[in-house]
Amino acid sequence: QLTTGLETAWNKLRGVDVLSKENIAEPMRDIRRALLEADVSLPVVRRFVQSVSDQAVGAGVIRGVRPDQQLVKIVHDELVKLMGGEVSELVFAKSGPTVILLAGLQGVGKTTVCAKLAFYLKKLVKIEDALVFLSLCCTKKLHILLELIKKKKNGFQGKSCMLVAADVYRPAAIDQLKILGEKIDVPVYAEGVDVKPAEIAKHGLEEAKEKSINVVIVDTAGRLQIDKSMMDELKEVKQALNPTEVLLVVDAMTGQEAAGGKLKTRITLVTTFNIEIGITGAILTKLDGDSRGGAALSVKEVSGKPIKLVGRGERMEDLEPFYPDRMAGRVLGMGDVLSFVEKAQEVMRQEDAEELQKKIMSAKFDFNDFLKQTRAVAQMGSVSRVIGMIPGMGKVTPAQIREAEKNLNIMEAMINVMTPEEREQPELLAESAARRKRIATESGKTEQQVSQLVAQLFQMRVRMKNLLGVMQGGSIPALSN
Ligand code: GDP
Ligand code: MG
Repeated sequence: QLTTGLETAWNKLRGVDVLSKENIAEPMRDIRRALLEADVSLPVVRRFVQSVSDQAVGAGVIRGVRPDQQLVKIVHDELVKLMGGEVSELVFAKSGPTVILLAGLQGVGKTTVCAKLAFYLKKLVKIEDALVFLSLCCTKKLHILLELIKKKKNGFQGKSCMLVAADVYRPAAIDQLKILGEKIDVPVYAEGVDVKPAEIAKHGLEEAKEKSINVVIVDTAGRLQIDKSMMDELKEVKQALNPTEVLLVVDAMTGQEAAGGKLKTRITLVTTFNIEIGITGAILTKLDGDSRGGAALSVKEVSGKPIKLVGRGERMEDLEPFYPDRMAGRVLGMGDVLSFVEKAQEVMRQEDAEELQKKIMSAKFDFNDFLKQTRAVAQMGSVSRVIGMIPGMGKVTPAQIREAEKNLNIMEAMINVMTPEEREQPELLAESAARRKRIATESGKTEQQVSQLVAQLFQMRVRMKNLLGVMQGGSIPALSN
């Protein structure tokens, strides 16, 4: 296991004052072995170890930093570099539909990825939900969310998608795609098994253009092994489509047994696909398995193309961007720092989102929306899980979490006894102590709690307006709390 291998390496440096050629020799051997065991190819490992050693020996002493920590940092940064450094976003066509062609061997998860990807592109970030949540339990951390939003504001657009079934070898493959499409409410273009894949792809694209679809995702047939007929077919499909992205789907589980032969297969696979059809990136699937992500380490190195997305399970929501620094963290066993914004994403119908946006802009956000969103937040998982997913959140005590959960319930109880008019016009409650009193009595809460809730809603309106400003390119507003 890569992680344990590296841990041994760090432990050998305990008690050492400064990194030297001598004392890093043994840890470097562990690192080398760990990388090889994680399927990284020998030339890559050699370069890696050399680079890390050079930096480590020349590193000098940093006050307050232990040499083993220093080495961890150097290795981490090298791993990130090895995997391409930055997140590689999907590219979208400037005009007309974006076409994403998926390729890969049989059983790696192409068809599943088709649907997952459509689901992923369709969904809109329910950033408002995250905001509600944060203001419920940790107002002081609101700026973290705003910063994340600012960095990611381009990722907030939902897209309309269409799937094209160009795997014609088994009728079951077409049905599989149709079923998935239905499940996520995305149209599937299919023809009979006697039509050439390139033809189907072309017709599918025409239909997508007619319907002004944003993204067309094309499923293709795989084989158990690379063969000429598959490559020829893919070339034809590619030619017919002129795709924006050609993504090679790679199974993280293959080659896991670390047998030399299997490992070679994967490297050959990535290289061959790249040379033969020209890929723009890769999707690594089945990362939920035992694999520690060794495959992730070599794709970029052998093909020059980045991993763009990773699949972590069979459910539609199990697809996320590939973050080299997180993967490096995982490889090093330093914890998977998931970004809150990604997880705060959920399917939201476009109309709902637009409606909400209008409401926010006109400051009409009311208790119905409030309720809808607190419920959506509740669906994101337990409060503690959600908090755990926010980078930079630091420690939140169990007591604080219980507090937040309790708050959610209290608010729901109060909103539940409001009249429809009160829910739509919070002003009614702001103006009338009698109404607040009635709500307190009916919900079994105190008048003070009702007043707090009303105040919170008005605060939220202000915050949401600010937030929208950020999403539309403004600067992060200064927050009083
Ligand atoms: P294709 O032949 O490349 O189209 O592969 P499929 O999409 O049909 O997937 C093959 C099998 O792998 C199916 O049983 C999927 O449910 C499963 N699968 C796909 N992606 C993942 C993943 O990320 N994790 C896990 N655990 N299973 C996956
Ligand atoms: Mg398939």
